[in-house]
Amino acid sequence: RSFQDLGIIDSLCDACKALGYKAPTPIQNQAIPLALQGRDLIALAETGSGKTAAFALPVLQALMDKPQPFFGLVMAPTRELAYQISQAFDALGALISVRTAVVVGGFDMVPQSIALGKKPHIIVATPGRLLDHLENTKGFSLRSLKYLIMDEADRLLDLDFGAIIDKILKVLPRERRTYLFSATMTSKVESLQRASLSNPLRVSI
Ligand code: AMP
Repeated sequence: RSFQDLGIIDSLCDACKALGYKAPTPIQNQAIPLALQGRDLIALAETGSGKTAAFALPVLQALMDKPQPFFGLVMAPTRELAYQISQAFDALGALISVRTAVVVGGFDMVPQSIALGKKPHIIVATPGRLLDHLENTKGFSLRSLKYLIMDEADRLLDLDFGAIIDKILKVLPRERRTYLFSATMTSKVESLQRASLSNPLRVSI
């Protein structure tokens, strides 16, 4: 199967080709058609499986349909992963001029506030710093968010981000799609799933 067969539009197929992706990986084969049908997903997949494109492509495709600021939020456990994810969005979204911002701990808040002021389409964040911006950056809100992705959810919860994520979930609109990606299914991941996903389908490789 090709990305086109999965329902991915030409401009994003071209971006995949430019990145050297010849065919979808197994997790992409499973997740993308369901995501394009508008379902919430819980995906069990490890790093290296192509999981980032599995969630980035459907979000970018929806964004192209109706571009708007603060369209998607990806929460990741570490700065390094957050930067990798934003690079993937930039690369896959290069042909459609997607704007991403990274909001992570360990760096000055001010440049991040300025980046948020530019109304990016996609925010990739670690939870603590994101909550800090939601509480302290004037004019920044996620009330119009359409897509929430929690990547490496097991690690997010192992790092004790659970309480912070709960606070963030409270200020997100209920009318949204949510994808939860995790390498392992733990009881903490299951309760996060119950708190954040609506009628999800489960995919695993
Ligand atoms: P990830 O699991 O998202 O960290 O991706 C692992 C690596 O696989 C990254 O370098 C991706 O650019 C690459 N990748 C993702 N999808 C594909 C694909 N369909 N074909 C070849 N490489 C891919």
